[in-house]
Amino acid sequence: MRNYVTLASMLAERKRHQVALGSIMHESNSFNCQPTGLSAFHFRRGSSDQSMLADWRTGNSEVTGFVEEGERCGFQLIPTIYASATPSGPVTSAAFEALTNELVGSIVGLANLDGVLLALHGAMFTEAFPQADEEIVRRVRTAVGKRMPLVVTHDFHANISPAVVELSDVLLTYQLNPHTDTRQRGIRAASILSRMLAGEVRPRQAIVKPPVLWNIVHQNTSEEPLHSITAASIALENCPGVLAASVACGYQYNDVPYVGPSVVVVTDGDADLASREAQQLADRMMAQRDRIQLCLPDAAKAVADALAADRFPVALFDVGDNVGGGSTADETALLDELIRQNATGWVVALHDPQGVAQAKVSGVGEKFESPVGGQSSSSFTQPVQIRGVVRSLHQGTFLEPAVRHGGHRHWDMGNCAVIECQGSTREMMNLLLLTSERCSPFSLHQLISCGIYPERHKILVVKGTVAPRAAYEPVVAKIQLVDTPGVTSANPARFKFHRARPGICGLDLDLC
Ligand SMILES: [Zn+2]
Repeated sequence: MRNYVTLASMLAERKRHQVALGSIMHESNSFNCQPTGLSAFHFRRGSSDQSMLADWRTGNSEVTGFVEEGERCGFQLIPTIYASATPSGPVTSAAFEALTNELVGSIVGLANLDGVLLALHGAMFTEAFPQADEEIVRRVRTAVGKRMPLVVTHDFHANISPAVVELSDVLLTYQLNPHTDTRQRGIRAASILSRMLAGEVRPRQAIVKPPVLWNIVHQNTSEEPLHSITAASIALENCPGVLAASVACGYQYNDVPYVGPSVVVVTDGDADLASREAQQLADRMMAQRDRIQLCLPDAAKAVADALAADRFPVALFDVGDNVGGGSTADETALLDELIRQNATGWVVALHDPQGVAQAKVSGVGEKFESPVGGQSSSSFTQPVQIRGVVRSLHQGTFLEPAVRHGGHRHWDMGNCAVIECQGSTREMMNLLLLTSERCSPFSLHQLISCGIYPERHKILVVKGTVAPRAAYEPVVAKIQLVDTPGVTSANPARFKFHRARPGICGLDLDLC
């Protein structure tokens, strides 16, 4: 009897599908000359590390969705690697090889594998492989063989090459920007894999790349001209025979052959339907290309307009220093204007490790006089002289409990200092948050954890373009995008594209 139970439980165990999970995420700005090495990645590995699964369950990322749906489907989940770094310059070949070898090596070593779920960004750039995610998928496919179900997710900002669609069984991207649907997309990916493993569906997918640069300024999926196209892709997923529909707008700070938007449609066994629907969504994008105009104020006008506003706070989005787009996080165009125009009640966050160190040496309540920002070799702007007082010092970790862009929960911006700057009054302070690490402004807790309450200020400088809206829209009276200099300038005419395929309209678009 004992033997029978053991055999039955072994058979039951064998029926559980073994699915490997892996994620390597980096959005690489090829115009930022600062390379991204292995040390920039938060990195976990190991199929025996079940604590990885426990951590993933608590987040809101696509990997959280993989785990949630995978467990619901009864998968035996095998974590392999999770690596991500804040968007920045190109990934070094050494880092790429180390991460990819870890992923592929741990998958190759798995016996009885039934499927693979892979979360990649889709805009990773290395010198050897400008479309680096394609190379990762190629190596994984080579390792697991042609027949192994391979389901891949990408960010909404992926520059998808047709090869990824050929190499994977299913590719889907986030549909929303800000990316508040990351977990749901992971759930959909795992659900499709489950149906594949049960023999219920046979995915067929098609990609169409509309030859237009869909500028980042128009990548808010809640606003036209994109909103109705996004809505159509969401509706398409409810149609019979359609498993997934993705409209990825692409990442314009990446000089690669397949820069720009992509439409990927996955159907159950109907390649023609996938091609037809993908083409229709791509045609809708092309029909809107004349509406993708750029008319943004420069820093001087934006600050003057904000000072004249009748409702506050006004959030000035520093488009040229979009940290989530791989910028330096230390551009000073708006800080310089705020001081020049004697503004009061402002908040600016800057990456400035030297400034943090200096504030620590001075101590809380002591004077702070130093140039700040503009110090990276990729910065377009100059340091700005600050005179003030060290208001507080912080460890720089914080938690975002709500669903915000990208689904990240735990944050670390390194040691920080808050400086009360020149022009502050008892009623209206000018606060400068200096951080030791570059930090994307996707959570208000970046400020709140340092004693800065955004709703009490008049002008908030936010280093992003669309993504920070999920955090800031609930508390600000107005969001104004600003045409500022930096490696994430909205104007593609400021950059030289050498690798982009010919015929993409909007690549040489200038500001009106
Ligand atoms: Zn993105």
